[in-house]
Amino acid sequence: QIDFIQVLQMPGTREKKEPELTEKEKKKLDIQETKKNLPVYPFRDDLIQAVREHQVLIIEGETGSGKTTQIPQYLHEAGFTNDNKKIGCTQPRRVAAMSVAARVAQEMEVKLGNEVGYAIRFEDCTSERTIIKYMTDGTLHREFLSEPDLQSYSVMIIDEAHERTLHTDILFGLVKDIARFRPDLKLLISSATLDAQKFSEFFDDAPIFRIPGRRFPVDIYYTKAPEADYVDACVVSVLQIHATQPLGDILVFLTGQDEIETCQELLQDRVRRLGSKVKELIILPVYANLPSDMQAKIFEPTPPGARKVVLATNIAETSLTIDNIIYVIDPGFAKQNHFNSRTGMESLIVVPISKASANQRAGRAGRVAAGKCFRLYTAWSYKHELEDNTVPEIQRINLGNAVLMLKALGINDLVHFDFLDPPPHETLVLALEQLYALGALNHHGELTKLGRRMAEFPVDPMMAKMLLASEKYKCSEEIVTIAAMLSVNGAIFYRPKDKIIHADTARKNFNHIGGDHLSLLNVYNQWRDSDYSTQWCYENFIQYRSMKRARDVREQLVGLMQRVEIDMVSNITEAADIKKAITAGYFYHIARLSKGGTYKTVKHNQSVTIHPNSALFEDLPRWVLYHELVFTTKEFMRQVIEIESKWLLEVAPHYYKQKELEDSTNKKMPKTVGRSTRTE
Ligand code: ADP
Ligand code: MG
Repeated sequence: QIDFIQVLQMPGTREKKEPELTEKEKKKLDIQETKKNLPVYPFRDDLIQAVREHQVLIIEGETGSGKTTQIPQYLHEAGFTNDNKKIGCTQPRRVAAMSVAARVAQEMEVKLGNEVGYAIRFEDCTSERTIIKYMTDGTLHREFLSEPDLQSYSVMIIDEAHERTLHTDILFGLVKDIARFRPDLKLLISSATLDAQKFSEFFDDAPIFRIPGRRFPVDIYYTKAPEADYVDACVVSVLQIHATQPLGDILVFLTGQDEIETCQELLQDRVRRLGSKVKELIILPVYANLPSDMQAKIFEPTPPGARKVVLATNIAETSLTIDNIIYVIDPGFAKQNHFNSRTGMESLIVVPISKASANQRAGRAGRVAAGKCFRLYTAWSYKHELEDNTVPEIQRINLGNAVLMLKALGINDLVHFDFLDPPPHETLVLALEQLYALGALNHHGELTKLGRRMAEFPVDPMMAKMLLASEKYKCSEEIVTIAAMLSVNGAIFYRPKDKIIHADTARKNFNHIGGDHLSLLNVYNQWRDSDYSTQWCYENFIQYRSMKRARDVREQLVGLMQRVEIDMVSNITEAADIKKAITAGYFYHIARLSKGGTYKTVKHNQSVTIHPNSALFEDLPRWVLYHELVFTTKEFMRQVIEIESKWLLEVAPHYYKQKELEDSTNKKMPKTVGRSTRTE
């Protein structure tokens, strides 16, 4: 039992208080009727008119108004796709691009990938016939390399502008520039929140088109005291709502796949134990790596008498709208990438959300009827601890990738690039230094031949460098596999609660003494030798879907390797060469064994620890290279290999000096750098 207190009501523009699950709601509306019910519909003609009159238009409308799904269709109907030109629409998130494209294809009664398609990293579901194209912002950023004037588009919509992802922020500058010499290109900047004014100013006072929201009031509840374990608190709250509140679906915001799976298991378990005492509760997860057929489930109508609970990441905050949500549970956290320009370390951490996010989340409860939002934190904490707005990504993440792309587009003067909010100077400098150390830039800051080849790959510069270095070490087959496996990110091994021991034993069988990258290579190669069998995955506790994705990614990478003229050759016998190629890319990510089984990063002496899932967890080699850092209770290195320090001089002579790499295990550690306070 959790004690909630209601503190305030978020007003709606509609006044009705009671849930409006009327006859009309129950009778399933057909698609055309649904379209006409969206808030944007009455503004269809005005909107088309405004686009005709102005080159740049800022669109502001609450989430769920129909901006993303309807506006491209309206413009298509109004003739903007004549002359063989496309309407493009960017999304910060992969899942959103895919799901929205699927919906629009359905509304237009065409096959997905024909007239309506999507493009995301490593996956292009479009064709010659495509006239409405959804894509991630990163994908459009990359399209500039092959089509710098976006000639094939008549309209470009930068959607979800309020999300302020790194790529979206950079796109603002790029499209603004293009609009100047392509007067026929229409630009729409669409946002769900109130920052329209800022966008308007940036685009030389472009007019703002407002779609009035239609929201029912939402009652906001806070907990009386802080909750120690918010996943558990979510489970309790869901059951509490299910037992005491009228029917209506629940949306729970969690930070990532692991948490969602834990929550799902706990809930399923509890519901099972309650048996027939409670009404049916349908539990559905949604997160970025969820296969698309599973994602589609969240949009299916809830059967009469049952209740749906959707466990979602931030993706459901504004990118996806799930109809019929009446209750929102908001623990107040999200996962964010953070880059510390002082230490050069980038890490994925769980952070408190902003007030703006909290209010977006609450708003999800008021779309179809008056709703309730349960915040798993105190009213005091909302008022005093949450920031007003989320810091734009450009101000908090590593810019290596963005800088490389801009350089590849011929934009050399980054300090004077037209940023909506400029990145911190140190971060920009660090990105330039990193690219220099990788050999992508020369000492004038100009793109080198290597840098140009690196920019061909839709991966971060370190991975691109690793791929290119495989040429020298004659192990391109292996490196491409490793890159593909690293890109599917974590979801390779399957670990069901009731078979943990079996799963862990199966996993250990793949372990390679050299480290995790090589273990991943083992997994892939054995799967390939099984003729990519599903059965094999099942027997070895490997997620078939992730493997399939790794295979797709791998194919794409092989294609790109051909483009940069690297032959695919195998060198399975020489693990050291494979590791050297990895080191050639990731020489920034090196740590050396220190006291008590912890490690210190070489350049900045930060404390880091090998993740318990690693093959090297018990070995503790002297020198390790890690793929990424994840901060939970401490800073963990995930995906680790053992390396030899002398390789660093071989692959990065301008970055490492002999003296830094001398064995200092006998020397005392400098006192000032002790343990990082964050690990306490
Ligand atoms: P906005 O972009 O203004 O937030 P959208 O165009 O995304 O609004 O959503 C409009 C409507 O389309 C919503 O009611 C939403 O539920 C519905 N919708 C969007 N994607 C799907 C989907 N994949 N399946 C079913 N309905 C969807
Ligand atoms: Mg949208």
